[in-house]
This record gives sequence, C-alpha cells and structure tokens, in this order.
Amino acid sequence: MAPPSERATTIAARLEGAVALDLAVVETYGVTKGILELTLEGDLAGFSPWPGQDLMVSVPRSDDTARWRRYTVRRIDPTSSTIDLWVTTDTDGPGATWASNAEVGDHVEAVGPRGKVTLDQGAATHLFVVDPSGVAAMCAMAEGVVEPALVATFALMPPVPGIELSTAIAPLCAEGVPLLPHVFMDDRMPMILSALNLTVTHLEEKPIAAYVFGELALTREIVADLADQGIDPARIASKPYWRKDRANESNGEPMREEAARSE
Ligand SMILES: Cc1cc2nc3c(=O)[nH]c(=O)nc-3n(C[C@H](O)[C@H](O)[C@H](O)COP(=O)(O)OP(=O)(O)OC[C@H]3O[C@@H](n4cnc5c(N)ncnc54)[C@H](O)[C@@H]3O)c2cc1C
Repeated sequence: MAPPSERATTIAARLEGAVALDLAVVETYGVTKGILELTLEGDLAGFSPWPGQDLMVSVPRSDDTARWRRYTVRRIDPTSSTIDLWVTTDTDGPGATWASNAEVGDHVEAVGPRGKVTLDQGAATHLFVVDPSGVAAMCAMAEGVVEPALVATFALMPPVPGIELSTAIAPLCAEGVPLLPHVFMDDRMPMILSALNLTVTHLEEKPIAAYVFGELALTREIVADLADQGIDPARIASKPYWRKDRANESNGEPMREEAARSE
C-alpha cells in the first residue's frame, strides 16, 4: 500500500482521532438496487471507529466543487484489514459515480473516523429511522446494541420488485437483542408519519432512544414528529446526510443555510 498523501495526512491531523488511509478496492457487491457494498483494504492501524462513525472518502473530481464524500463504516474486519461501505448509487454525483465505476485494485484516499453520534447506553429501545443513505449507519449501530435492549428499525426505501429488502438490509443484532424490522416503501410523508407513529405507540420498552439519518428535510420532519410522539428530544440523535436537489459540499456535508432561513 502506498502511504496516504500529505494532503490527506494534513487534514487528518486537524481532526481529533482521525487518520489518513490509502485503501484498495478488493470486492464490490450489490446489497440491493441502488446500494453497493465496497470492501476496501488497507493499513488500518489507528483507525478504530465506533458503530455509526464514517469515513471521508476523496472521490474523483467531476468539477471544482466535488471532492470529499462521507460514507458510514458498515463493518470493519481488523483480521483482514478491510472496511465495508454501503454507497447509494442512484445519484449523478461524484460519490455515486466513483462507487459505480470502482474496480478491484482501484485505490482511494480516506480520512476518518468522523462523526459524533453514539449509541445511548441508557435506552431500553433503540429506534432507527433512515433512508437508503442511512442504512449502513442503522445496521452498524444496531449491531452494536447489547442486551438488555430492543432494536426497532424503520427503513424508508424505494420499492424494489423481486428483492426481499427486509433481509438484505437487516442488521445482525447481538444475541439477546430482539429486532423489530420495518421497511416502508412509500414516499408520502403522511403515510410515513402515520406508520412511524403506529410503530412508536407499540414500543413498550422505555426509555426510547431514536437515531435519524437521511435527507435533510426528511430528517428534520421525522425528528420533530418523534418529539411530538413523546420521545425525549435529548434522546433523539440525528444527522442530515444529503439534501434533495443539491449536491453535498466539497467537505461532504449537505448545504444547510437556505433551509435554516426558511425554518
Ligand atoms: C456523516 C455522513 C455519513 C454518510 N453515510 C453514507 C452512507 O453510509 N452511504 C451513503 O450512500 N451515503 C452516505 N452519506 C451521504 C452521502 O455522502 C451523500 O449522499 C453524498 O452527497 C452522495 O454523494 P454524490 O456525490 O453521489 O451526490 P451529490 O453530488 O452530493 O449529489 C448529487 C445529486 O444527488 C442527490 N443525492 C445525493 N445523495 C442522494 C441519495 N442518497 N439519494 C438520492 N439522491 C441523492 C442530491 O440531492 C443531488 O441532486 C453520508 C453523509 C454524511 C454527512
């Protein structure tokens, strides 16, 4: 493996706990339509993400603004020195283009781990609400939950005929951790909220911690609704991963200013 570039090393040095990595693609695998698993191998010394943390990947430039894209570590295997990412490929952006065109042997530079959201250790139920971009975070975090606790997942997915989505994107929870998996294939907000509210109503193990990852406006609406449902706002963690009709910024974050002004 080549050492990471000076540019990546300099960025990593500015970010607490982060290291620069030079990674090679060793395998690609279609998780479901629109989500590609990339297995990347490299020297992972010093790279110890907690469940839900992500990697900032330097994707090939398609124009002057595109550079870093962030992808959650779906799983890490220190024995084989590999990391799996689940990358959404149904966009016309540089991240999706990189993943779709990735071939075994390709190298990519990355910096991480990044991300501040952690599992709420005091929760009796861990509720995840995600769109396809948040499925890796949902699975990685759900698999980090230890008993006694319940996991409920609510994945908002586009319909995919012929694929058993609830199996393809289900986390493998630890022994003794029951899983209530929900896959919802309807993009109408009133339907989503009413299905979610029904789910929350039936969750008897309290307190509930909620984690919401996905498109910016969706994330905000779900967070507000969960608070209205009586979930303690201090126990709701969220992170917008992308913004509808806007490319993410060159640091990998979705643009927020206009949404903030209109709130
Ligand atoms: C902390 C963090 C963790 C993330 N983890 C993951 C992850 O594990 N897997 C993952 O796939 N993504 C993840 N994302 C989101 C991912 O980085 C963005 O979706 C990214 O912008 C996609 O880059 P792109 O270059 O393909 O598209 P962009 O150049 O950002 O956008 C191009 C166009 O595609 C649209 N678009 C962007 N993302 C999506 C999407 N998911 N679905 C539909 N349309 C989209 C945009 O609105 C825009 O119109 C994460 C983001 C953050 C901030």
